[in-house]
Amino acid sequence: MNNKPSLILFDIDRTLIIAGKGGIKGLKIAVKKVLGGRPDFGDINLHGATFLQIVKDVCARDQISFPDQKKLKDFYDCFDKVLQAEIGNDGVILPGVKDLLIELERFPNITKGIITGNTASGSDIKLKAFGIDSFFQFGAFGDEDAIRANLVRLAIKKAENVNHKKFDKDRIFVVGDTPADIEAAKANNVLAVGVATGHYSKAVLKDCGADITYNDFADYHKFVDSINSQI
Ligand SMILES: [Mg+2]
Repeated sequence: MNNKPSLILFDIDRTLIIAGKGGIKGLKIAVKKVLGGRPDFGDINLHGATFLQIVKDVCARDQISFPDQKKLKDFYDCFDKVLQAEIGNDGVILPGVKDLLIELERFPNITKGIITGNTASGSDIKLKAFGIDSFFQFGAFGDEDAIRANLVRLAIKKAENVNHKKFDKDRIFVVGDTPADIEAAKANNVLAVGVATGHYSKAVLKDCGADITYNDFADYHKFVDSINSQI
């Protein structure tokens, strides 16, 4: 049993939940209405991307100048409105996630946080829709930095501020479903946990450097056991 302070940072989309069609619809409407760009993401990687990066990529592709703070806020608000209206239609929480979060509460040495490409407000809508927002006291979000590795660093800093304690690098776990999550963890020399509930298999996530991989969290005890043992 490892009782050292441990930090688990969860990605949201396809790690904890699937937001459904409202997510992509919200992006398309916001790109068209607010940025005046092309509402098509065929040539833009959305998997594990931050909102700031998506806006940058759309602006570069469609030769639009990067929006000022007011327009950026309008973009996020427009997205949030669509997401809020539609997430109840076909959004789902992934297997075992709620039980896992409940189980982790039992361990006072474990701190949970969010690291996501979503904005803070979008994250709130997504977590609240499935009643899991109260499990998280802090997070680092895709409207704070375009680079995911920087968000991992920021989330660790916030965790240390909230808890008034330091976490050893080998007790920090970044959990996600995409190569971007794994690479962001590795860039910070912390442990990467891959979960194959997105578009990438365990093998692909392992090849990207994941230290542990799971098909999903249906058997969440395995994950809790590995957190609590030296891996
Ligand atoms: Mg994800």
